[in-house]
Amino acid sequence: MGEWTCFICKNKVVEGQRFTFIPGKGAVHVECLNKKVLSSPTPDKVAILDANEVLLYTIVRLKEAEKSAESDDIKKVLSSIRKSVEKSAVDLAKIMEKWI
Ligand SMILES: [Zn+2]
Repeated sequence: MGEWTCFICKNKVVEGQRFTFIPGKGAVHVECLNKKVLSSPTPDKVAILDANEVLLYTIVRLKEAEKSAESDDIKKVLSSIRKSVEKSAVDLAKIMEKWI
């Protein structure tokens, strides 16, 4: 994993933490993102942030599952699922970009 810095709190993003990439801004912890976006909450923001949390949690768990799986074919299936969830997280990041 590369070395990234959260563009809100300026601390490092550490393996296992939930984070996302905001287009044009960079890496951000989910907690920092939530705090910033919810400084002026709307139902749309709450809905998207909630969905984002679920996806980011899923990505972390799928990475762990990939590591603990034994056979290559199972690792491949888990990796492919994770990549499709990551694509969905990018869709959400594009929406959240406008709120920060
Ligand atoms: Zn942060």
